[in-house]
Amino acid sequence: MSEFSLLSNVIRDLEYVAGIIELDRDILEFLKVPKRVLEVSIPVKMDDGHLEIFTGYRVQHNDARGPCKGGVRYHPKVTLDEVKALAMIMTWKCAVHDLPYGGAKGGVVCNPKEMSTEEIERLTRRYTFMIADFIGPFRDVPAPDLYTGPREMAWMMDTYSQLKGYLVPEVVTGKPTCIWGSEGRTGATGRGVAICAREVVKALNIRGRVTVAIQGFGNVGFNAAKTLYDMGFRIIGVSDSKGGIYSLEGLNPYKLMAHKKATGSVVGFEGARTITNEELLALKCDILIPAAIENVLTSRNADIIEARAVVEGANGPTTHEAAKILRERNVLVVPDILANGGGVTVSYLEWIQNLHREHWSLDEVHKRLEERMVRVFWEVYKNSVENGRDMRTEAMVIAVKRVAEAVKTLGIWP
Ligand code: NAD
Repeated sequence: MSEFSLLSNVIRDLEYVAGIIELDRDILEFLKVPKRVLEVSIPVKMDDGHLEIFTGYRVQHNDARGPCKGGVRYHPKVTLDEVKALAMIMTWKCAVHDLPYGGAKGGVVCNPKEMSTEEIERLTRRYTFMIADFIGPFRDVPAPDLYTGPREMAWMMDTYSQLKGYLVPEVVTGKPTCIWGSEGRTGATGRGVAICAREVVKALNIRGRVTVAIQGFGNVGFNAAKTLYDMGFRIIGVSDSKGGIYSLEGLNPYKLMAHKKATGSVVGFEGARTITNEELLALKCDILIPAAIENVLTSRNADIIEARAVVEGANGPTTHEAAKILRERNVLVVPDILANGGGVTVSYLEWIQNLHREHWSLDEVHKRLEERMVRVFWEVYKNSVENGRDMRTEAMVIAVKRVAEAVKTLGIWP
């Protein structure tokens, strides 16, 4: 199996944990594969009049603990295997955060950067139409992921509602606040990552001004940076797809975002030295936050990581091999399913608000997010210390046990 296949990695993680908890072999086989897979060919009239056929997927990995939940990704490199892996990750993420959801993921193979707003809208509405029987407030609730956001969620909700004949806000989360979106949803993943980083500092008893390096300065990276900066942490390195920057004195994420908006990249920020993405990952710092793409910490670079802890903002940034090396080198890894669960947690809060036709204040949402993230962080951390296991393994142990117990209790086994 390739070290760089996300699906191979999530299956290896599952097999590893299954061995530890002596999971029934039949349940292991059941959990290795998604429950349902839908592939659609989406015809879209492009602005110049020609018809383009896009491939879209919706994968539901498991729904034993509740309706499936997971984002929709627009990217030219989307593959069915990737969507299957991400759906499985969502099952574990919802379970470790004890949310009443299973896991799902969607994806459309397209390049939104080269499409007009109208083309993206037509694509989104047609995709929603074609998966409409597959999703639903108590069946499968989509949300934003790479290159989708509140705008796409508004179109999805509207298309689904038109089909039903009445407004169904609870069919998707991550909507604009003016049409039943939750306060604090957009920044929730990064905020949750920052809360985990702050708890790591307490757990490892790190003293002085804590230094942080962040790979990726999009939704997750920026919101994590901003929250940590406001907490008094020093952000010494940041990167994006065009390269990285470093400043021992610290970077101001608000000014850096203004620079990125003006120039298209973090590179060239005044007073900072330019570095590569590889150099950013190897910076000597207290906390490294990979918040861009998967498979960035691998067997090739895990032994040069100088951070004391890695808090995973992205999905699957550390390969199975790299996790082993980091474990041996005593680098604490707060896994994606725990660290970036702030987004799905606030999605859950949005769904609850929608079902009750309520709208909570930003303070209320932040308070609930804070309580849930802190509780889950310490549950995983304390269990990992007691059981002598790393947090990545422990989070998976908790998640897989919960899902397996639900599957068994529901009694689908002969
Ligand atoms: P985004 O598109 O807003 O930002 C991605 C950032 O990564 C950009 O700054 C981009 O320049 C940078 N990047 C892309 N390729 C890179 C590379 N090769 N090297 C360095 N930087 C690179 O995306 P996002 O929403 O912030 O998501 C980032 C990660 O977090 C993804 O793995 C996503 O699945 C995961 N995630 C996001 C959310 C969410 O709520 N947005 C929730 C859970 C997990």
